[in-house]
Amino acid sequence: MQLPRGGRGKAATHVYGSHPNILSLVPREPRPVRQHQRQLNRRERMALVLERDGYECIWCRTPIEVGLNRATTEHVVPRIKGGPSWIENEVAACRHCNGQRGHHSPSAWLDECERLGLQPNREAIRRTLLALQQAIVERGGQRRARPYVESQLRRV
Ligand SMILES: [Zn+2]
Repeated sequence: MQLPRGGRGKAATHVYGSHPNILSLVPREPRPVRQHQRQLNRRERMALVLERDGYECIWCRTPIEVGLNRATTEHVVPRIKGGPSWIENEVAACRHCNGQRGHHSPSAWLDECERLGLQPNREAIRRTLLALQQAIVERGGQRRARPYVESQLRRV
């Protein structure tokens, strides 16, 4: 994420994001859903995502067991494209696929996986994009992610 110089709001976000101890002292508007998400640790997020999408890598469908460290959650809309760190933007992937995908868009990576002979979970990617679209409508903001999600939904 590029921070414009002198942009007050974004600079503040950057500072607080870098100093979690300061963040806890700053009064904030109550946001029940995101506040709830903030308290989930990595393992809990992974458990929720696996329960939602199935216990496998979204790309290569290799089985993933809860508690093992061979998998990770990754963002459907990449962070570099403005994708938020919301559970609606997360899917489970094995470390190999996560590393291979890099910043590819979900639609491009689905196509590439199929070209390689894999059977990626296209339906779960589509569901995730729809859920993210809905979450953006409810919470607002995400000006970069919003059009990206819409264009991806036309391609998956
Ligand atoms: Zn995989």
